[in-house]
Amino acid sequence: MLELLFLLLPVAMGYGWFMGRNSVKQSQHSAKQDLSIKYSTGLNYLLSNQQDKAIDYLLETLTLEDDTVEAHFAMANLFRKRGELDRALKVHEHLVRQKHLPTKAKQQAAFELGKDFLSAGLYDRAESMFDSLLKSKVFGLKSLTFLLQIYQSTNDWQQGIALKKVIVKSKDKKLLHILANFYCELATIALEKDEFIEVVELLEEALKCDPNSCRSNWLLAKIYENHQQYNEACQCYKAIYGQDSEFFPDVIDQMEKCYLALDAQDEFASFIKKVYDETGGASALIKYLEYLAKKHGPIKAHDYMLSALKRRPTIKGFKHFIKMQMANQPDNKEHETLEMIKQLVSAYINVKQRYNCRTCGFNSSTHYWSCPSCHDWEQLKPVRGLEGE
Ligand SMILES: [Zn+2]
Repeated sequence: MLELLFLLLPVAMGYGWFMGRNSVKQSQHSAKQDLSIKYSTGLNYLLSNQQDKAIDYLLETLTLEDDTVEAHFAMANLFRKRGELDRALKVHEHLVRQKHLPTKAKQQAAFELGKDFLSAGLYDRAESMFDSLLKSKVFGLKSLTFLLQIYQSTNDWQQGIALKKVIVKSKDKKLLHILANFYCELATIALEKDEFIEVVELLEEALKCDPNSCRSNWLLAKIYENHQQYNEACQCYKAIYGQDSEFFPDVIDQMEKCYLALDAQDEFASFIKKVYDETGGASALIKYLEYLAKKHGPIKAHDYMLSALKRRPTIKGFKHFIKMQMANQPDNKEHETLEMIKQLVSAYINVKQRYNCRTCGFNSSTHYWSCPSCHDWEQLKPVRGLEGE
């Protein structure tokens, strides 16, 4: 209630100025009186908590001169923030109907009305509002962002892709990143039907929009694997490391399978060693240790692990260390103790969330391409630090 009264201050000031300036003009006297009565009535309604009646009176009273338009917007935004969407809609619709407003104010009214519709879940109406603003210098880019948000909510990927020309023209990296993910969504559907050419074409488009889209390379690797094109799949996995090393731990197992299919374990080991040297990641370390143990024996692997854990301890690495110790202690009391420690560590790892959204901090055990909390794309990545990578 206090905020609403505060909003009326500029109106009261405007009204005072209006009264002072025109006090000599008899012809305007009755209009001023009328304004004063409506203003006081509106104020009384607000004070007696009859907000709908107050809005009606105030909309009628505020004559939408330049100095009152901002008060209208502020009042409507306040209603929206308080979740009183019907009231916000009423004010914004009133503003949209005013033909004599300057272009910027008219566009702002349409934009705010679009946001009201979006908050109310009226996507069709929000879409037409934002669509009408695409050419606006001030609201064009923001409207484009909201349109993509609507198409993401409705899984209408084709509609989003139809805006490609405008998005490319805007050169906005965030929008291009979203568009790349719309292509990836279509590619995922095509991948399920194993439509090789369509998947590749869609993902090439995605990479044109966002050359850093590791999801595109992840999907490309999958379709190549499905068609036994392991060399190409390996190139995609390597590209993912170049695009986003934080996401890489999730593709190590698949990458290893492809190298094994090519009978190129040494090549895989030297790549994974490079990854470990550059990132210190636990998954890369474990994979390299497995290779080391096979190639040079358990003692060499054990020594390497010990110095790696001293340098950069992780729970995941520690679990693997216990596993290696157990292999050296066949069925005896020591083995039993180690088994118990391993189970405890495993239980601890299992209760921890594996993924963390780099944008909003949302944690999850399952991987999502679009964060369920903030809806940003490709931001859910393996957790870092002692309890993660
Ligand atoms: Zn998030």
